[in-house]
Amino acid sequence: MRLSEIYKPVGEKKTKTPISYEIFPPKAVDENAEKQKIETLLKELKILKEFNPALISITYGAGGTNRGSTIELARKINTELELNIMQHFTCVCSTKNFIENYLKEIESLDIKNILALKGDPPKDCVTVEQDFSYANELVEFISQNFALDIAVAGYPEKHPAALTLQDDIKNLKQKITVGGCAIFTQLFFENDNFYRYCELLNEQDIKVPVVAGILPVSNFSQLGKMAQMCGVVLPSKMVERFEKFQNSEEDTTKMGIEFALNQCEKLIEFGVSGLHFYTLNRAHPTKEIIRCLS
Ligand code: FAD
Repeated sequence: MRLSEIYKPVGEKKTKTPISYEIFPPKAVDENAEKQKIETLLKELKILKEFNPALISITYGAGGTNRGSTIELARKINTELELNIMQHFTCVCSTKNFIENYLKEIESLDIKNILALKGDPPKDCVTVEQDFSYANELVEFISQNFALDIAVAGYPEKHPAALTLQDDIKNLKQKITVGGCAIFTQLFFENDNFYRYCELLNEQDIKVPVVAGILPVSNFSQLGKMAQMCGVVLPSKMVERFEKFQNSEEDTTKMGIEFALNQCEKLIEFGVSGLHFYTLNRAHPTKEIIRCLS
């Protein structure tokens, strides 16, 4: 199913808010260990399948570092689980030729949706040729040459490299103008920032669906690093609540479920286009949240 068939704009009436899961291709020291991890991931996805996800999004290593394992995982999810896929794809450190070949491979798997990204250059990408500087150029190239529905990334609290949120939204608008048909957001913990973002998008006449990125927190120390890396606001009240339980992963996970559930309930009330869960390849927290939402 295509993005354009799944999602409705923010505020538009929906019978049910679509949910989706982000996963990443597991890495391991050797091939056998990797196969094992993929099997474990497929089992986790089987658990989450009962909630009828609109799609599974599979991350991509910028520069094509995990190209093979990404394709293999997409193939398995497609054939063994029959779940709809949105493949992430980045253009940094990649030539047009490489991009074209990869996208042909994606289409040959009967994948209909792609999340077109710039990506952050991997450390070892110093002198590699690259044909596109920003995601909008990739979006334009895909929409002119492929029959894929294209999603783009949005940052309710601003992309770390942008000077202002207004600048960032201007750049986002370019991605929509040249073919982006849905926005998937960076994770956030302050719903008010998401509501404000949707207002600003509306003011800029950006009317495509906006799907909210939700991270069920399960590890407090990793959270700080992740938030800093992504430029995400950690509300002080949230930090106070999680700090109390930081030595217990079980309690942190429970608190993370409760926090994300509350976020999701309010987002649904607001009329969000969809909820996209950053699962970190684990079914349990996301399953508990969706079970309570159903
Ligand atoms: P762009 O839209 O190109 O924006 C990057 C920066 O440049 C922004 O500050 C923007 O304001 C500015 N900008 C954009 N266009 C222009 C222009 N024409 N002129 C001047 N400035 C401009 N990374 C991965 O490597 N793999 C993944 O699978 C992955 N999945 C992601 C999924 C989601 C939902 C999100 C939100 C991010 C994901 N990322 C992933 C991270 C993403 O690649 C990085 O945040 C990257 O730095 C920006 O990518 P982008 O597509 O948003 O870039």
